[in-house]
Amino acid sequence: MIAGISLNIPDTTKPRVVIIGGGFGGLNLVKKLPLKEFQVVMFDKHNYHTFQPLLYQVATAGLQPDSIAGPLRNVFSDKPDYHFRLLKVLSVNCAAKTIETVAGTLSYDYLIIASGSRANFFGNTDVQKLSFPLKTIPEALNLRSQLMQVFEIAGITNDPAQKARLMNIALVGAGPTGVETAGALAELRKYVLPKDYPDLDFTKMNIYLIEGSSRVLPSMSEYASTKAKKSLEKMKVIVKTNSFVDGYDGKTVRLKSGETIEAQTVVWSAGVTGDILAGLALDSIEHGRILVDHHCEVLGTKGIYAIGDVASMESSDYPNGHPGVAQVAIQMGTYLGKNLLNFHLRLPVNPFKYFDKGSLATIGRNKAVADLPGNLHIAGRPAWYVWLFIHIAYLIGFRNKLLVFINWIWSYITYDQGNRLIIRPFIRKDDKLGQEIALTNELE
Ligand SMILES: Cc1cc2nc3c(=O)[nH]c(=O)nc-3n(C[C@H](O)[C@H](O)[C@H](O)COP(=O)(O)OP(=O)(O)OC[C@H]3O[C@@H](n4cnc5c(N)ncnc54)[C@H](O)[C@@H]3O)c2cc1C
Repeated sequence: MIAGISLNIPDTTKPRVVIIGGGFGGLNLVKKLPLKEFQVVMFDKHNYHTFQPLLYQVATAGLQPDSIAGPLRNVFSDKPDYHFRLLKVLSVNCAAKTIETVAGTLSYDYLIIASGSRANFFGNTDVQKLSFPLKTIPEALNLRSQLMQVFEIAGITNDPAQKARLMNIALVGAGPTGVETAGALAELRKYVLPKDYPDLDFTKMNIYLIEGSSRVLPSMSEYASTKAKKSLEKMKVIVKTNSFVDGYDGKTVRLKSGETIEAQTVVWSAGVTGDILAGLALDSIEHGRILVDHHCEVLGTKGIYAIGDVASMESSDYPNGHPGVAQVAIQMGTYLGKNLLNFHLRLPVNPFKYFDKGSLATIGRNKAVADLPGNLHIAGRPAWYVWLFIHIAYLIGFRNKLLVFINWIWSYITYDQGNRLIIRPFIRKDDKLGQEIALTNELE
């Protein structure tokens, strides 16, 4: 704990609900909670909610970061007894019913863990150090800077091997993030980069999409996978399925098959694991997620709930828990928000039931795939319209919806991606490329 600061949460006679995380789960929970009945304290490491499905567009210069984020302090400023603290929750003490932060300890009557997930590198520390994950806005901005910087260096290097490596990009994991990023990069390569860097030959820029399973978009239908792969290959993305990354040294990606790929930029979207709080009993955690019952209550606890990506609720429909998608978090948050008072009053409550509204992924302009309820599968322009509509509808706030809409119309008409500034939020000491660029800038 740091001396001289404290949480400054007013005392209350109402039950106190502490929420960890203002993502899709936390946000929808607060929307539905009867705030007259509870005091609500939300903690988040960031002071904004991130609309993660569009992070890839920030990373590929299509959208500015603030158009996909919403401040957590004022989103509920009209709600009574709602308090936001920009703090990481460090641990929970289930017996004492308190949580710990650097600014002190806070007691709770109900604790909701909505802390989401983080990139899973499966213990590969080199990949973790040298690749680019895409889970947060700073990470998306860092990747954007990297993507622009490599071409700056490629334009001035006299070493052909380095030039080739700088222009190659490897994306690991062909779920929606990998597929959408690959498509966006292919469009940048076709429409934007040749104008920015006329000295570079972009027919030599390779985009690799590496996937361990036998198809891209493995969580979607066979139809969606086939269509997406076809579109990606038409856009000259090199798709490698049944391929596992074994290692990466910052220059060369090694596949388990023995094959190697030279790439200065590796984007890691090959899996996530729950962002789990210290202090929970180990037997309530399985495969990196917190086990909950059908009311979202953490197994073996009273008054602690987990929702969204971090939670695993086993059911006959989902024996390994629900998929880590926004709809699950939204529906769990809404369910708990509507029912927490009933739990408090010990009234009967129906179990949580997930309604699968379908899955979508876009590959580029007029190209998307959609698995919709009723076993309906569509692709191409109609799926793209559905994708556009759904993403605008779920963005937080009218301003963001408008900003994103205007950006998309602009890009559609001009074939331009206007946010190509290099603004590195951080350069790691082990990031040789970042150091090289820092040197280049100094020489200027
Ligand atoms: C690049 C990307 C693309 C995606 N695309 C799609 C898509 O197209 N469709 C789809 O349905 N889903 C998509 N997802 C998944 C979807 O975004 C997640 O399922 C959803 O965000 C989960 O919501 P959540 O509330 O559980 O967690 P999150 O939205 O991740 O929110 C968790 C919050 O908790 C905070 N937090 C974590 N630990 C602490 C702590 N100790 N103290 C304080 N705060 C903490 C974090 O800062 C964060 O704000 C995508 C995810 C990513 C990363």
